[in-house]
Amino acid sequence: MSGDFEPACRRMEWLDPFYKQVWEKAFADGIPISGTFELTPRCNFNCKMCYVHLKAEDIPKHGKELSAREWLRIAEEAKAAGTTWLCVTGGEPLLHPEFAEIWQGLAQMGFFLTLQTNASLISGKVVELLERYPPRQVKITLYGSDDEVYKAVCGVENGFTRVNDGIHTLMSMGIPVELVSTIVRQNADDVEKMAFYAYRHRLPWASTGSIKPSLRGADTDAAAVRVQEKLEEAKRAEIQRRIREKRFVDPNRKPAT
Ligand code: SF4
Repeated sequence: MSGDFEPACRRMEWLDPFYKQVWEKAFADGIPISGTFELTPRCNFNCKMCYVHLKAEDIPKHGKELSAREWLRIAEEAKAAGTTWLCVTGGEPLLHPEFAEIWQGLAQMGFFLTLQTNASLISGKVVELLERYPPRQVKITLYGSDDEVYKAVCGVENGFTRVNDGIHTLMSMGIPVELVSTIVRQNADDVEKMAFYAYRHRLPWASTGSIKPSLRGADTDAAAVRVQEKLEEAKRAEIQRRIREKRFVDPNRKPAT
């Protein structure tokens, strides 16, 4: 394989050397060892920076959702080509009308599954399904440290409360959780609290200021929400330094009595 393309593993400093070797070998042999299934553009949140989310009634204007049968057929092809790691995402993937069937099918095929979700729908039947077919990890988008910030970023009530419940449910099930935050104007002042939330829960956390414009009809105004890259970089570096040095303090911490 030639050209400018670089495998993702070269940007993952944290990746175990064994897996790095596996990925490098797959790259050299042209094997699509990992992939992403973006099941649906549906979402129960309406984030200001989202370039994916479409209302259900707008989906037919831009294409169509694939059925469970279609996804599983693609999965069979991917498996035959050597795909091992699969990330299942959306929109909010749990809102695909046949999510349970797709998830069960992929798990039974033996993929190493990552679920990427906003974590607000981790309850009831979803919990039963994930208990039966656990993912290797769940990647959760964390957009604030309280309901007010979630309202500003995602346009929903009780957003943080629901996400926090989802995170705790997954942790109590012993499923590894990783947090990812996109930093926009509406949550830029909340970065430290989000980092502290991750630190307090002993969860890996990554942040990004990268905002992509939508190519498929989501009404994102990237320029209106993007924070200055340099400001974001400086904040991120400072937070990482404090986490490294374990000097992180909750800015709202009350004195002990
Ligand atoms: S939670 Fe994710 S998919 Fe849903 S609107 Fe927000 S950014 Fe988009």
